[in-house]
Amino acid sequence: MLAGSKSSIGSGTEPNTTVSSGARYLQRLNDGRKVWLDGKLVQHIANHPAFRGTIKSVAGILDLQDEPELAPHLVFETETGAHANMAFLIPEQKEDVFRRSRAFKIWSDATFGVMSRVGGTYRGQVAGLYIGRELLQSEDPDYSDKIVNYYRYVRDHDLLVTSAGHDPQIDRTKLSSELGGLYTALRIVRETEDGIIVRGAKMLATGSPYMDEIIVSPLVKKTAEEKQYALLLMVAVNTPGLHLICRESFASEEEENHPLSSRFDEMDAVLVFDDALIPWERVLVKEDPELLWKVRSTAVGGGLGLHKSIVRLVSKLEFVAAVGNELADSIGIKKFAHVKEKLAELFYQLESIKALLLTAEHGAKLDPSGVWLPDSGLMATAKNLGNRYYPRAIEILQQLSGAGLLQAPSTLAEFRGPLGTQLQAYYRGADRGAEERVKLLKLAWELVGSQLGARHELYERYYAGDPIRTYARQYVDYNKQPHFDKVQEYLLGSTYHQ
Ligand SMILES: Cc1cc2nc3c(=O)[nH]c(=O)nc-3n(C[C@H](O)[C@H](O)[C@H](O)COP(=O)(O)OP(=O)(O)OC[C@H]3O[C@@H](n4cnc5c(N)ncnc54)[C@H](O)[C@@H]3O)c2cc1C
Repeated sequence: MLAGSKSSIGSGTEPNTTVSSGARYLQRLNDGRKVWLDGKLVQHIANHPAFRGTIKSVAGILDLQDEPELAPHLVFETETGAHANMAFLIPEQKEDVFRRSRAFKIWSDATFGVMSRVGGTYRGQVAGLYIGRELLQSEDPDYSDKIVNYYRYVRDHDLLVTSAGHDPQIDRTKLSSELGGLYTALRIVRETEDGIIVRGAKMLATGSPYMDEIIVSPLVKKTAEEKQYALLLMVAVNTPGLHLICRESFASEEEENHPLSSRFDEMDAVLVFDDALIPWERVLVKEDPELLWKVRSTAVGGGLGLHKSIVRLVSKLEFVAAVGNELADSIGIKKFAHVKEKLAELFYQLESIKALLLTAEHGAKLDPSGVWLPDSGLMATAKNLGNRYYPRAIEILQQLSGAGLLQAPSTLAEFRGPLGTQLQAYYRGADRGAEERVKLLKLAWELVGSQLGARHELYERYYAGDPIRTYARQYVDYNKQPHFDKVQEYLLGSTYHQ
């Protein structure tokens, strides 16, 4: 057994509450995790240029829960009297839906909705798996004990959680079982007294290099032939044998010129398990496609997690709409009707998502598991609209700026150089000075044209699954019959036939 490592639930010291939540998080990061970037193993991740800006932001967000004015909105009291992050709150009352929402909004606003993994999407999924335990008691009594212990462990240690659900792309027309080869989808290679030894890869785990925990499980139903891949594992990021292969870093060290990528580059990584031992207490489902599907279908985690994602989307659309507005002001184009029309589109995107969110929260329903969940149909509509709204919002920023976005000099330091005076004249805006305008252009470019911006567009399209299939799924699940009945009634009704 991995004594003393975080792999073993409950091992290690109790949370040190004499230091801030952010400081505790920073102390946890030096734990032997294997993060690979640019062909090298990252040493001291919190000091590495590709990660330090983002990790500082994460620590800052965790510290918010220690601020006396914010704490009542961000933490709740557990059954032991300790304080825990609001994402772990079990919504037993309808009011809890709103408590969770207020906390999500504070976290989301802290990064303008740009960061997605600190506010609780996957903490919510852990809470959801915990809530669903009783429904699965008869199927697998062990499952219930394991998820209770795991939920309390991550909640009480205030751990950050992400997930990885997909098998490597390789050939999407084939089942995992048809791909063959040694290193493909994640599966068990042997069992020991301590746990299972797993080998294979999973994609894509956003934030994993500096999170604590990863929920590893397929997102789609596995068939009977793919039994060996039907696993639900709660994996500690520092598990020996687990390698996190990062994409290229989009982080910048220059806060002045890159206000978003210097602070909010959420790294994405592929997980490679090279005969890693997953202790039994972390193996929630083992080679059981039916149980796994039941866990995923009955667990309310999807709903709790999605709630946070929609609140985050509101923060992001507020931010993009405000940037669009500033861009228009900065070159005096607001008086043109087509510009007003485009700005209005940004605000109606925002208001549509807000309206869906509010209606879903106010229309929250009591789930059979005994908790209150925002209306799932409205949440799915908000999610699906969001993956079309966001790319359009970015297109509007381009249309409002033209080549202005590329007029910004490579660095703001140019204003302090020999041509500074000329720049002050040529780069000024209709309503603001040159430096202020260039700062705005640089912020807009981060959203529209930077590597970080491109990743964000991809994120909003795909984070919740392949949009083609999520739309199709919503159509299938939608209660269409009452509308069809009306048409049928009209077609068959007497008025029409007379
Ligand atoms: C920035 C970013 C961050 C992400 N973070 C996470 C994360 O933290 N955790 C996580 O688990 N996932 C994450 N994802 C992955 C996300 O869940 C997937 O991108 C999404 O589910 C789609 O799967 P895929 O990327 O494997 O694409 P694929 O499913 O391979 O799809 C690629 C294309 O092939 C088509 N296609 C493939 N298979 C079929 C089929 N059977 N029928 C019809 N069409 C098909 C799709 O329609 C699409 O056009 C992230 C994605 C992005 C872009």
